[in-house]
Amino acid sequence: MTAPRRPGLDRRQWLGGGALAIVSTLTGVWRAQAASAKIAKAAAGYQYAPKGDRRCGLCASFIPGADPAGPGLCKLVEGDIPPNGWCQLFAVR
Ligand code: SF4
Repeated sequence: MTAPRRPGLDRRQWLGGGALAIVSTLTGVWRAQAASAKIAKAAAGYQYAPKGDRRCGLCASFIPGADPAGPGLCKLVEGDIPPNGWCQLFAVR
């Protein structure tokens, strides 16, 4: 004799819902990480001037733009990065 089915979710429905919730959560975390892969200039202590002889154009994280004298990008800090700026994440090439 089998037990009568209780109303509500059966195991298959419950597992399917759990898997969907996990995928949804992981997707949200991935999107949040992708959006915040770089940090804000203020958080990096960025300044639009060199720090002594240290500047973005000499940093290992700097990605030059099409015009070497113009702004480029940084692997760590968001936004346009002038080659004569500097931040606390500076690393010698
Ligand atoms: S890490 Fe800092 S110093 Fe280096 S390129 Fe990026 S913003 Fe400039």
